[in-house]
Amino acid sequence: TVNAEIVAVGTELLLGQIANTNAQWISEQLALHGINVYYHGVVGDNLTRAKDIFDAAQNRSDVIIVTGGLGPTDDDLTREAFQLLSGIEIIEHNPSMKKIEAYFKRNNTVMTPNNRKQARVFHGASIIENNVGMAPGMIVEYQSKTWVFLPGVPREMKSMMNEGVLPYLSQLHGQTDVIKSYVLRFIGIGESKLEHELKELIDSQQNPTIAPLAQADGVVIRLTAKASSEERAIDLLEQTKSAILAKVGPYFIGMNDENIEHRIVSLLRDGQHKIASAESLTGGKFIEKMIAVPGASVVCNGAIVCYDESVKRDVLQVSSSTLDNFGTVSEACALEMSQNVAKLLGTSVGISFTGIAGPDSVEGKAVGTVYISIYIEGVDHFANKYEFIGDREAIRQRAVLKGYELLFH
Ligand code: ATP
Ligand code: MG
Repeated sequence: TVNAEIVAVGTELLLGQIANTNAQWISEQLALHGINVYYHGVVGDNLTRAKDIFDAAQNRSDVIIVTGGLGPTDDDLTREAFQLLSGIEIIEHNPSMKKIEAYFKRNNTVMTPNNRKQARVFHGASIIENNVGMAPGMIVEYQSKTWVFLPGVPREMKSMMNEGVLPYLSQLHGQTDVIKSYVLRFIGIGESKLEHELKELIDSQQNPTIAPLAQADGVVIRLTAKASSEERAIDLLEQTKSAILAKVGPYFIGMNDENIEHRIVSLLRDGQHKIASAESLTGGKFIEKMIAVPGASVVCNGAIVCYDESVKRDVLQVSSSTLDNFGTVSEACALEMSQNVAKLLGTSVGISFTGIAGPDSVEGKAVGTVYISIYIEGVDHFANKYEFIGDREAIRQRAVLKGYELLFH
């Protein structure tokens, strides 16, 4: 198998002004094409250091993908650095030059001499046309290594990868297999527990590969299958999915884009329920997530953001005896909040959040103390207490997620 390396050129990456999303995206694509990525490199706009990193890449990798530094300005020196290494002549690419000239003519702007720079390519390179920008990309076969040069602008880079580079690499390495992947989403189970439950499967399984990954809104497992046909790949994925669900099925929410809020919207819709939320520390985050789901209007009536005690009292009509005896951060208050919001907003389901996001404690209760209550008309009414850890933002996020998890179970 071939191994690849991605080198991103640009001082702004080293300064932390932008993140190297190009490397992330390219890695993902190469993985889907069965190409292993062994190294990521980042180098500033500096000729000798760029040459050095290219030198190392030439020695250790079969495919090297370079992004950035192909533009018109003086600090764009990717070509010059590779020339230092390879000695390959740089020539002007006529079709690209014409395209650049036409672009300036169309926009009635004057072309400066340095714009010609962008049309310069390595002698003998395969040219990848740039359909969304100016500088063309290049593929250069040099001393049995494949070099790919792409612009830094993510939109241009992606279009050229998809249209030119990935087909080239697949063909080059006789890769005719189809690669398909599934993302399985779980909630209410930690990454380590999930891995533990699936350990034997993960260890024994080669195709599809099983990769668990913790995310902000739960854990996902990515299955990637390689097969001679799409049908066969899907077969393999389905078999493994079944084996996984046999072990951790109760935590499974959905596939690919179907996340927890999508799932809750469908569950409410299927049960012909409507929901409203009463949100203190979450400040409307719960309902915001739900309204982001297309079709939420069928199940979602609204929310009362009751941050101050007076709103809990006057708008949500939480009783004075509850507020005076137990405080706003209490089981009793959460229970009244969930029931009252459902009544006030005319829904069959109410959910409430009250707690202490920090940094200071309130009512003598510790930061991270959160009560979440769910009211389902004629069916259920309960409140749970949680002690979340983390900063203000993390506690608010965890509360929202826990609310969705409670509705799911
Ligand atoms: P241009 O022709 O636009 O100058 P270029 O090939 O010279 O393109 P750069 O100048 O290095 O590329 O980068 C152009 C822009 O693309 C940068 O301002 C940055 O926003 C973005 N960019 C560059 N490299 C990366 C990267 N590795 N990841 C994400 N974005 C990037
Ligand atoms: Mg540039």
